[in-house]
Amino acid sequence: MLGERMGRIPPNVAYLLIAGGAFVFTMQEYHPLLRLETWLAFMLLVVLYRVVVWWFYRLQEEPSNFTLWDNLSFLGSFATTLAWFSIIPLFCDAREPATVYIAGLFLTAVASGGVLTIRTDRRVVLAYPLFLLGGYALWLILQASSGFVALALMVLVYLSFLTITAGQLHREHLKTIRQTERLQRVSQEHARNEQYLSTLIDQVPVGIMKFDREFHITGCNPAYLELFQTSREQLIGLDVLELKDQRPVNVFKQALAGKEGVYEGEYRPTASPIERMFVRAHVVPLANEEGEVEEVLCTVEDLTDSWEKEQKIRNMAFYDPLTGIPNRKLLSERLSQLLSLYRRRWQPGAMFYLDLDNFKDINDQYGHPMGDKLLVEAVQRIRRVLREEDTLARMGGDEFVILLPGVGEDEHSMILQVEKISARIHQQLRQPMELEGICLHTDASIGVVSLDPEASEEELLRRADLAMYRAKENGRGQTQFYDQKLDEQLRERRSLQQAFRLALEQGGLELFFQPILDMKGQVVAAEGLMRWADPERGMVSPEVFIPMAEEMGLIAEVGSRTLEMGCAQLSQWLSNPGMCLQYISLNASPSELATDGYVEHLAHLLAQYRIPPHRLKLEITESVLLKPDSDEVRRLEQIRALGVDLLIDDFGTGYASLEYMARYPFSGLKVDRSFISQLLDDRNTYKLVAAMLAIAEQFGYRVVLEGVENLTILNILRKLVPHSHFQGYVYSPPLPVEAFETRLQQGGLDVSHLDEV
Ligand code: C2E
Ligand code: CA
Ligand code: CA
Repeated sequence: MLGERMGRIPPNVAYLLIAGGAFVFTMQEYHPLLRLETWLAFMLLVVLYRVVVWWFYRLQEEPSNFTLWDNLSFLGSFATTLAWFSIIPLFCDAREPATVYIAGLFLTAVASGGVLTIRTDRRVVLAYPLFLLGGYALWLILQASSGFVALALMVLVYLSFLTITAGQLHREHLKTIRQTERLQRVSQEHARNEQYLSTLIDQVPVGIMKFDREFHITGCNPAYLELFQTSREQLIGLDVLELKDQRPVNVFKQALAGKEGVYEGEYRPTASPIERMFVRAHVVPLANEEGEVEEVLCTVEDLTDSWEKEQKIRNMAFYDPLTGIPNRKLLSERLSQLLSLYRRRWQPGAMFYLDLDNFKDINDQYGHPMGDKLLVEAVQRIRRVLREEDTLARMGGDEFVILLPGVGEDEHSMILQVEKISARIHQQLRQPMELEGICLHTDASIGVVSLDPEASEEELLRRADLAMYRAKENGRGQTQFYDQKLDEQLRERRSLQQAFRLALEQGGLELFFQPILDMKGQVVAAEGLMRWADPERGMVSPEVFIPMAEEMGLIAEVGSRTLEMGCAQLSQWLSNPGMCLQYISLNASPSELATDGYVEHLAHLLAQYRIPPHRLKLEITESVLLKPDSDEVRRLEQIRALGVDLLIDDFGTGYASLEYMARYPFSGLKVDRSFISQLLDDRNTYKLVAAMLAIAEQFGYRVVLEGVENLTILNILRKLVPHSHFQGYVYSPPLPVEAFETRLQQGGLDVSHLDEV
């Protein structure tokens, strides 16, 4: 308001000068010049004052101290009023009515003009005409002339009109000013908001892009450029419908039709080095006043990090971390999908169950890291053989499943194809693997099953597993197709296992004894051999049930049963003067030795039956490789420490090497009956046996020859190893205790007619 008032000063001043000049000019006829000039000088002073105030006010860059300037300006107005007021006493002369009228005219003009020009200040607006015209009217009344009084009345009427008009004008003026000010404020606020908004858009970490009705990108914020690692130049003007990744296009189109939308998913940006990302894009239409969509605003959040984390978790759940191939869970998902597909439209397909050969040995011998490397290498090799649509999954350990959908046109060609594929897998795996300078050999046993949509997923896996199991039994590196017979065999096996478990629990096992003789034909010892007398199957050989017991995890019980029955029998014979056996020997497989408590049990039995330890010998089959520092070897040493002799059983057939003899605490060996039986037919076997015996002699080993079936063979052996013992059908098969004792009472083997040694 002050500014407004100040702004009025120059025209006011000009008006004053003109009016003042005109007044002096009009009055010069009636008044002395000096008086007029003095008044004019005062008026000029007032004008000068006002100009100076205005000038200094203008000089300030930022107006401040409003009250001061307000008062200074008010003072100017007051002085002006005073100057005009003074013309009443100075120039109105009742005797010269012209002066009264001229003064009245000027006062009315000045008062009206003032009201129009200084309407902003209410005080001035009211004071100015009130002073001037009120004063003038008062003066007229005081002259007590009827003409003047009438004039005074007219002036007062005019004054009241003027005052009312001034009031209205003032109010209206104030309103206009306020409105202008408000408008200014609003527009300033608007400008500030706009700036605020654009700063916000530039600063937010969310990418913002907009495109127009023609789908051309018209703008974006820095975050958007950074997000997609692109530049404004590359981006602006691009057609969003022609971008590399078309996935969000539908949402864009919908937005132009006026519908908000969200695209959430993988995204491959254009013109950017980023391979792919995961985004959430909010797409919002921007309409004009008529409601027509003019632009579309798209805000983009980068969710790649959390998406990758999720992906990783998913991978952990569905993929094998070591080899990176699907795990059992994903396989089962794919298999069930495939089966439901096949139920609708059948196609030949196959599934392999694959188990690596030797894996356990390699793992044990070279450690797990090496085993892991072998698995990774094996997976790579198998994959070379497979097609894109095949699934290779790791079921755990060294077991894999391969899903082969759509192989061949019919069952027959499927079988041919499968044979080819499995042959290629064998060929790949069979090639030596060079891992960390060590050359490893492996292969796989593969069970194959046709993808029969009628069978359940579990059933198919079971069949494939069964076929694989059979392949393994057939020898390593084999492929076996599943067929019904396998299942029958399996069922048979199951019932055998069940019967065996029962026999073990209910004392259905029995120990037979086979006499061991010296070369003079005297019975000197006996070997205890386990028998299972099954009510349905008759006598079952330990060659059947010992491996079965191992598989069933029952070998420890079988072992302790052997020891118990053997020791009980031995103690009985030791106290029987009619039975002059030097020792009995019992069989133990290495897996029995490995069971906890075996040695303690043995020591306990020896003590319980008061058996001198040298009267008992243990025969250890060499079917399993003994490793130095293994539990088995430690047990051997403990047994030896008890004073019980250890013999290598089935010498020459398994893993036993010369190293065994030097390293482990054996004191004798048993030459396997397979060598003895071929002695007559094969010269090489003869040489082999002769060599074995020579070595045994070098080590000071006691030798027992098993499977001696006739005197001819015995004759040869007598010459080869005159101090050895033997056992075999030539004298007696293994017999139940009673029969054994009877046989012994009948005397030894008559060797009198054999050649003298
Ligand atoms: P082994 O220790 O080599 O036992 C000798 C096998 O040869 C016995 O078979 C015996 O009946 C058979 N035999 C004896 N003389 C002759 C012969 O003149 N000609 C022929 N052809 N065979 C003869 P068996 O009793 O069936 O035992 C088989 C294998 O079972 C044994 O082989 C032994 O390794 C194992 N075994 C037997 N009893 C036990 C036991 O209590 N515990 C363990 N761990 N294994 C046992
Ligand atoms: Ca034996
Ligand atoms: Ca043997």
